[in-house]
Amino acid sequence: MPATTETATGFVLPPSARTRFAPAPTGFLHVGHVANAIWVWGAARIAGATALLRIEDHDRQRSRTIFDAAILEDLAWLGFVADEGPVRQTDPDALDAYAAALAHLTADGLAYRCSCTRATFAAWAREYGAHWSGPGCPGACRTRALPGDTVTSLRVALGVGTESFEDVLRGPQTGDPSAAGDLVVRNRDGNWTYAFAVVIDDLRQDIDLVVRGEDLLDDTARQIRLGRLLGRSAPPRFLHHPLVRAATGRKLSKSDNATGVRDLRAAGWSPAQVRRDAARLGLVPAAWTS
Ligand code: GLU
Ligand code: ZN
Repeated sequence: MPATTETATGFVLPPSARTRFAPAPTGFLHVGHVANAIWVWGAARIAGATALLRIEDHDRQRSRTIFDAAILEDLAWLGFVADEGPVRQTDPDALDAYAAALAHLTADGLAYRCSCTRATFAAWAREYGAHWSGPGCPGACRTRALPGDTVTSLRVALGVGTESFEDVLRGPQTGDPSAAGDLVVRNRDGNWTYAFAVVIDDLRQDIDLVVRGEDLLDDTARQIRLGRLLGRSAPPRFLHHPLVRAATGRKLSKSDNATGVRDLRAAGWSPAQVRRDAARLGLVPAAWTS
């Protein structure tokens, strides 16, 4: 295998061992997911990586088995075959891993209960004329040692200083892990959060190439920091790709029925037509789609 792979569009994708496709089962697949899948499976092929399918069902209120099953069925119809998985964030080994990571962070004195709500953040923003930023939370909960019998979220102090990384598509990036306050690792409903679960999963599943939409670019610095705090020696490589946007320029959501894979199927589209349209709307380079 060559040391690096020059793609037709000029950016370089070094060899990787493992990447993943990680949809949340909170809705049906839409063309935005399909574009992401084309990027993921394209990267896996170009970089010589294994593709893992991880169903990110950390949000137990919003995740539904009907969506989980539909995602698997639509992926198969589209012809995306994972080398491993599906694995889920509600699998017993996943739940054990999140608990162990929290224990690790607690032993390091970094985890704390927080009673702040959206309203607390909004009140702070009204008072100071700017959004809360920097380590901590508006209620200074880390210094308050709230009792465990109150309804709280759990935060982890990620500390100060920036994290830098080289995005495969976008080049050098720098971000502040604590830009939006300390990271919530478990919310008031008792769910592990996306940012917490994804970092632990990417670490324990040996993911070294993360291919995802550019809406998560701002989340990356804190994911790198959390991984470091959990003992990850080198972060994965990141590729943040353009999002498919609806005609209005909005980010697509699962409620945009006109772009749902199920609806396109019902309207008689073939898998190749759906993939082609998603690749076009998602600006996927031609070399990645073959
Ligand atoms: N479950 C996340 C999503 O659907 C995955 C993001 C990621 O790839 O890190 O947005
Ligand atoms: Zn707080």
